Amino acid sequence: MARYLDAKCRLCRREGEKLFLKGSKCYSDKCAIERRPYAPGMHGQGRRPGRASDYGLQLREKQKVKRIYGLQEKQFRRYFQDADRMQGVTGLNLLQLLESRLDNIIYRMGLASSRTEARQLVRHKHILVDDSVVNIPSCRVRVGARIAVSKKAEEHLRIAAATEAAGQKGIAEWVDVDLQTKQGSFRELPARDQLDSSIREQLIVELYSK
Ligand code: SF4
Repeated sequence: MARYLDAKCRLCRREGEKLFLKGSKCYSDKCAIERRPYAPGMHGQGRRPGRASDYGLQLREKQKVKRIYGLQEKQFRRYFQDADRMQGVTGLNLLQLLESRLDNIIYRMGLASSRTEARQLVRHKHILVDDSVVNIPSCRVRVGARIAVSKKAEEHLRIAAATEAAGQKGIAEWVDVDLQTKQGSFRELPARDQLDSSIREQLIVELYSK
């Protein structure tokens, strides 16, 4: 499966905002976008924020969300097609589908410090869904499913660091988790006002509806 090989911080700098792709570093003064708040590359500093076209704005928003969830174009478009076929508001459906991915739920529960780390935990068979090992990060988790860290991974240092940080930062409102036992559940789909307000999903809908 193809992956982004680009340094993650470059992606944030390209989008001009923090996408929180690197765990604890994102909350520290080592965050690259705080140190170099301009686009990457030789001409990054010279780039002026001109008036982007509608298409340009739509494209950037799509790239941004794709990068937040660490997806490739094909995968992202498939999510959009599924969202479009569902009843309700396509933009919200899209965000809820993305939020239902197993790697994202692990991240939202505070068991991993980033979605990349969550993906690794899932691939290494450290995560149980309803008592069964699931090693597919994109697995769509149903509302109500129980999620737990496997017994053998309970002492995993990275998980311990992530749960400690999550205890300080707080946990997403739509999941339940006990950070001591490292288990919990996907309580409900997030409402729009519980998700990142900087995301303008309508632009993505407009882009793909052309
Ligand atoms: Fe983005 Fe995190 Fe890197 Fe900052 S540290 S630029 S938020 S990935």
